[in-house]
Amino acid sequence: MQFIDHAEIEVIAGKGGDGIVAFRREKYVPAGGPAGGNGGWGGSVIFRAEENLQTLLDFRYARTFKAPDGERGGPNNCTGASGEDLIVDVPCGTVIYDRETDEEIGDLVFHGQTFCVAKGGKGGLGNKHFLSNKNRAPEYALPGLEGEIKQLRLELKLLAEVGIIGLPNAGKSTLISALSAARPKIGAYPFTTLIPNLGVVKRPTGDGTVFADIPGLIEGAHQGVGLGHEFLRHIERTKVLVHLVDLNAENPIKNYETIQGELEAYGRGLPELPQIIALNKLDAGDREFADFITEELRQLTDAKILTISAVSRTGLEQLLQEIWDVLDHLKEISRNEASETSVMDLDSLHIADK
Ligand code: GDP
Ligand code: MG
Repeated sequence: MQFIDHAEIEVIAGKGGDGIVAFRREKYVPAGGPAGGNGGWGGSVIFRAEENLQTLLDFRYARTFKAPDGERGGPNNCTGASGEDLIVDVPCGTVIYDRETDEEIGDLVFHGQTFCVAKGGKGGLGNKHFLSNKNRAPEYALPGLEGEIKQLRLELKLLAEVGIIGLPNAGKSTLISALSAARPKIGAYPFTTLIPNLGVVKRPTGDGTVFADIPGLIEGAHQGVGLGHEFLRHIERTKVLVHLVDLNAENPIKNYETIQGELEAYGRGLPELPQIIALNKLDAGDREFADFITEELRQLTDAKILTISAVSRTGLEQLLQEIWDVLDHLKEISRNEASETSVMDLDSLHIADK
């Protein structure tokens, strides 16, 4: 599922250091020449694509990024130290716009790719630079130049990694608001009437994971009833499904099977997506019944089954932990696959050599 996440920030590059006026003063040189050094460059602000980031969540908290100024030149022709570049990590797929011109100025696609968004100011020239036959003792130097300042808009196409499914009233919307830290602005989304609820849940490791609550998933969805079909098409791209079942519904098992039947009928990988079943509304039901339903479900599926209450926030920590475990596991698998591919590439290189 793709959505657009936005952030508006300001980037300020460092000012160049000033050049200085100085003269050599050495023991045996009576009238020393000019020796004022140049100022150092101001630091630039540089964006770097980082594959471990998935959202622009961090930019909701920090909005101004300033690189340090360059230092003044020193005596004895010493150039001032340059301000260090400020490296800001952004998720792969971030597109950068200049807010003043509304122009796209860059995008970052691959892990490790960098893009300079604000260039540091050049350091000023020291008086040494102005030494000439005409002027043996220049008494002036230049100030450092200002660094670039830009107002930027960042846009990222978000991929929801976690889909929450279940019949209407199972508590999907309630769960997503109980879990999420912030809501990205939704744009460029084809549905105007039924917009899935989105939430970004902050992981213990810092970055956010996008959760999407998939409304409209009702019996017959795979045949195009309501907008269910459209939504099914979109959850193909999620990595894990949380299947929410209202424990206190008339027939929780049947409700589970209804949704499961929809996934099966639709196919295209949906039935095979890793699933975590969450029996919801424990606060209004009882534990014994939950255990009974759990046992019944175990006959039907190998999926992990948890009991939660979205309203009283019971069991949410465990639910999140299960989700992170599945996502980490998937990441591990894809990493291993990637390294196997590179081994294969090496082999084919050898063959080509021969
Ligand atoms: P959705 O249709 O799946 O998005 O379900 P909603 O989140 O809109 O919830 C449907 C109804 O169930 C609302 O009245 C919620 O207040 C209620 N609900 C959701 N979660 C819980 C829960 O954990 N306990 C109780 N008692 N009610 C809940
Ligand atoms: Mg809802």
